[in-house]
Amino acid sequence: MSCEYCECPTYISVAKLSFYPSNYLFSMTTPLSSAPEPASAEASESASALPSILELSRDKLTSTIIEMGEKKFRASQLWRSLYNETAKSFDDMSTLSKPFRKSLSESYSISPLEEVMYLTSADNSTSKSLYRLHDGELIESVLMRYETDGHRRNRKTACISTQAGCALGCTFCATGQQGFRRNLTVGEIVAQVIELQRIAIEEDKAQIAEGKRTKGELQGVTNVVFMGMGEPLANYNNVMAAILVLNDGQGLNIGARHITLSTVGLVPQILKLADEELQINLAISLHAPDNATRSQTMPVNKRYPVEELIRACHKYANKTKRRIFFEYVLLKDQNDSIEQAQKLGRLLNSLHCHVNLIPVNPTNDGLFDRTDLRAAKDFQGGLKQYGIPSTVRMEKGIDINAGCGQLRERAIDILGA
Ligand code: SF4
Repeated sequence: MSCEYCECPTYISVAKLSFYPSNYLFSMTTPLSSAPEPASAEASESASALPSILELSRDKLTSTIIEMGEKKFRASQLWRSLYNETAKSFDDMSTLSKPFRKSLSESYSISPLEEVMYLTSADNSTSKSLYRLHDGELIESVLMRYETDGHRRNRKTACISTQAGCALGCTFCATGQQGFRRNLTVGEIVAQVIELQRIAIEEDKAQIAEGKRTKGELQGVTNVVFMGMGEPLANYNNVMAAILVLNDGQGLNIGARHITLSTVGLVPQILKLADEELQINLAISLHAPDNATRSQTMPVNKRYPVEELIRACHKYANKTKRRIFFEYVLLKDQNDSIEQAQKLGRLLNSLHCHVNLIPVNPTNDGLFDRTDLRAAKDFQGGLKQYGIPSTVRMEKGIDINAGCGQLRERAIDILGA
């Protein structure tokens, strides 16, 4: 089951798995020969020394093209090649002249990402990519595939990272345990969607050839969720710029309502986001109905306590008229009692919202046990008493460590990288 705004696998797990499950496909795209160096270290030799053209905003791209002696309309052609056709090299851009392609390739690279690992779950519903950046940092992206489920079309969701590492230190999160490395650039954020778009389009085309979908169903990535590594609102400007690129009708054309930004609750940024007049979805990782419980696993709660966060959510909902989504991971005997459900119901009472209840998968270290489906339904009943709508959804892609930061962690553990 998945919720109605996104289908991201949850990142709840501190499991450091010491084995590879036998039931997933594993491919090492590029050898991981060294541990990620600090951002200040020299760039890895395998990454291109040229700057990525994906770092240029549309305006900057246009002025750059004009400075190169080309007509303005060439910028639109180039933009379409990059973001709509997701061309892998300038040589593939047949609408541009050969000399122009040559000058572009002498000044810029395209993708700032180098894929080093690609995993697909046994049921083929989830794939996860590990990318190396120019300075050796490793980030992860996930592609989730959903079949038609009666009221929704089949869809493919890209779950992307916004930071290398994260400073917020949630105790249940693999990325949080790795510490903060640096913010991702706009190009590094958008490039993740482009990479997943290429995979999604190829799959669509194969299905069309097999007669499993019609030509009109060449969709590619349909949804994007900012739920990978990092706190998106801590990299505010780059994330906002990336959303504009993803939403551009001549490029990837991901509708704003198909984009979800997830935050642990940085109050000033939530209030700032309310003024952006974007139609994107906002999801808050809440996971507890009170400060005592929340502060145990989410240090950010000491800075922005639950009451202050919920006040900001009311302001956001009033300003944007958008429903807010809350994520609540159910941890057996920790935050899944009926009393805690009722407390959550009282907290969210009168707020235009929807709660996603996520029974966490048990972790190898035995820190967390799974809330069973019956207990999850009982919790849902407690929320219902206060008129709070909710959905119970299950984690996805667990056999490939699709939780945030886990693939990077595994690569470093197992490959000695
Ligand atoms: S904010 Fe997100 S990425 Fe950062 S530690 Fe918490 S859950 Fe992990």
